[in-house]
Amino acid sequence: ERLDNNFQFIEVGRQDPQKKSLFTRKRKFVEIYEPFTNQQVQSQSHRCLECGNPYCEWKCPVHNFIPNWLKLISEGNLFEAAELSHQTNSLPEVCGRVCPQDRLCEGACTLNDGFGAVTIGNAEKYITDTAFAMGWRPDMSKVVKTDKKVAIIGAGPAGLGCADVLVRNGVKPVVFDRYPEIGGLLTFGIPEFKLEKSVLSRRREIFTEMGVEFRLNTEIGKDISMEQLLEDYDAVFMGMGTYEYMKGGFPGEDLDGVYDALPFLVANVNRNLGFEENPEDFIDVSNKRVVVLGGGDTAMDCNRTSIRQGASSVVCAYRRDEENMPGSKREVNNAKEEGVKFLFNRQPVEIVGDGKVEGIKVVTTQMGEPDENGRRRAEPVPGSEEILPADVVLVAFGFKPDPKDWFADHDIETNSWGGVVAPEEQTYKFQTKNPKVFAGGDMVRGSDLVVTAIWEGRQAAEGILDYLQV
Ligand code: FAD
Ligand code: SF4
Repeated sequence: ERLDNNFQFIEVGRQDPQKKSLFTRKRKFVEIYEPFTNQQVQSQSHRCLECGNPYCEWKCPVHNFIPNWLKLISEGNLFEAAELSHQTNSLPEVCGRVCPQDRLCEGACTLNDGFGAVTIGNAEKYITDTAFAMGWRPDMSKVVKTDKKVAIIGAGPAGLGCADVLVRNGVKPVVFDRYPEIGGLLTFGIPEFKLEKSVLSRRREIFTEMGVEFRLNTEIGKDISMEQLLEDYDAVFMGMGTYEYMKGGFPGEDLDGVYDALPFLVANVNRNLGFEENPEDFIDVSNKRVVVLGGGDTAMDCNRTSIRQGASSVVCAYRRDEENMPGSKREVNNAKEEGVKFLFNRQPVEIVGDGKVEGIKVVTTQMGEPDENGRRRAEPVPGSEEILPADVVLVAFGFKPDPKDWFADHDIETNSWGGVVAPEEQTYKFQTKNPKVFAGGDMVRGSDLVVTAIWEGRQAAEGILDYLQV
């Protein structure tokens, strides 16, 4: 294609990267997409219309300079594209893989109007993956170091976003995490078929080269106290996520064979990564009939992990219709392709069994009026009960924050649902009631997305820089 062709979007359709064979996808914990080739990324990026006031940039929670780096990569300026992409996003290669682009950047692309959105996510992933492989590193040559240091609790996307902005402004971030690897849910929640773990270990090396210090296997409140951090550091950022599981509140949730989603996913990752401490933690669903309850990203990950473990059948029961599912459409389609059977409009009312799960009783629902979030309510249809046979039930109803006892000792306030109070709109963004403590990500906004956690971590870092007057 010619680079001066302004009608590339008509002549070249949207093309997603190729997926691996279903044979591999059903068995292996590896990413399912092949990377773009250089030629593909250039011709796909060149489809961008360079809209004057690009919607995609507004819809992207970190407001990436999307048309600008698409133009750079379409012209072959890889390193410049990588530098620009890192101005707004601390983990572009991660977002390129796991953002629900269909309802963010790509959902807002002008070309959605019948031509097919630009493959923004895959271009973003390509730029950083390829630049790193070719030796590019973030430019730290202009950083002027200060004598300030900040403790960061949690090496998830919020903590890493915060560390990235601080270190680029000469403040030393020391990141503490109770887990043996960085990434938070990127490493221990999201499975390898969406995000291979080498992406995070490479990031750890790069952040370390940039001057971020990691103290892993260290839990704050247990191995080191908050008091100690407040004494040793100029400020503290908390990005500790949400780890309390929501329950369905129906009978049978305590039966053998009923598991929360996260322990199932974490144990699976731990086994694959060689972090498993006790083989009994592993939840083996091979040759079992699995029913997954829920319709978000976590439910999709449970479905697809069960397929790869060799479950004899995987049924996903969700109480609303497909239209009203919160998870990424792309991942729902991937799950369908891999053999997951979806039962929409089914609400669980009881898990049945004698000591151990034998099935799950569901009622059919119909869609009613929208609730306060604009999603239509699921209303049960009387007399529609049926029992879905199951050997294992995985419950993926979401997470809420689990405030720690020590929060109150340090004037860290929480709201009615346990979220840490740290508003964006105030003099020092994301500051808690304790002026020295800032917070962001899932523990402040409730379970959300990787890219929103990165945004809050980065914004909180700006709040901290203002507070420290650097
Ligand atoms: P986390 O990622 O939870 O990180 C918090 C970190 O803090 C953890 O590493 C934890 O160990 C550490 N920590 C907590 N307490 C302490 C302590 N006292 N001391 C030391 N360390 C501590 N989002 C998407 O955008 N796309 C997806 O496809 C997607 N899929 C998901 C799949 C699953 C299964 C789950 C559970 C979530 C998914 N999400 C997805 C959501 C996304 O992962 C989260 O919104 C995001 O990781 C939140 O980032 P965070 O930094 O706030 O918290
Ligand atoms: Fe799209 Fe997410 Fe990248 Fe923003 S960060 S451009 S929303 S993939």
